[in-house]
Amino acid sequence: MPVFVNVPGCTCDDLSGCPSIYMCDADALTYDEENDTIVYDEEACWDCQTCVKYCEVNMIYYAETNEELEEIKQILGVT
Ligand code: SF4
Ligand code: SF4
Repeated sequence: MPVFVNVPGCTCDDLSGCPSIYMCDADALTYDEENDTIVYDEEACWDCQTCVKYCEVNMIYYAETNEELEEIKQILGVT
């Protein structure tokens, strides 16, 4: 199941210190230093939703299907 990190909405000053990255035991979330962003690897994801819980400002979204994820992105106004 897909996860979406709404990076433009992140409130942490330093994305490399994102607690959700460190709490993801599957290493499905990583910090991309070159682009200063958080990258999600769906193949590696275990669907545990731990990352969602550790973002206190709710910038990580979890969807049951890709269709649901697209709906969430449309509501957020991101592509
Ligand atoms: S904790 Fe949330 S707001 Fe902070 S960097 Fe991670 S996803 Fe973004
Ligand atoms: S749902 Fe779990 S495995 Fe997937 S990115 Fe989030 S913390 Fe990692």
